[in-house]
Amino acid sequence: MPTYEFLCDQCHTRFEAQLHFGESSEHVHCPQGHAQTRRLFTPPGIVFKGSGFYVTDNRKRSGKKNA
Ligand SMILES: [Zn+2]
Repeated sequence: MPTYEFLCDQCHTRFEAQLHFGESSEHVHCPQGHAQTRRLFTPPGIVFKGSGFYVTDNRKRSGKKNA
């Protein structure tokens, strides 16, 4: 069962909770019982695949020449 990380908006406590499949994260309360929690998106790993997803810095200058 996946475990997600949450942050309480009221007491700013970070905690982990398990969500059942299809269960809304809006039902998750913090350990202090606050209902205003938000889910933190911390995926274990994001892999960007595909072409063209990089930045080319053609405008980079070599700097001033110190003659
Ligand atoms: Zn709280």
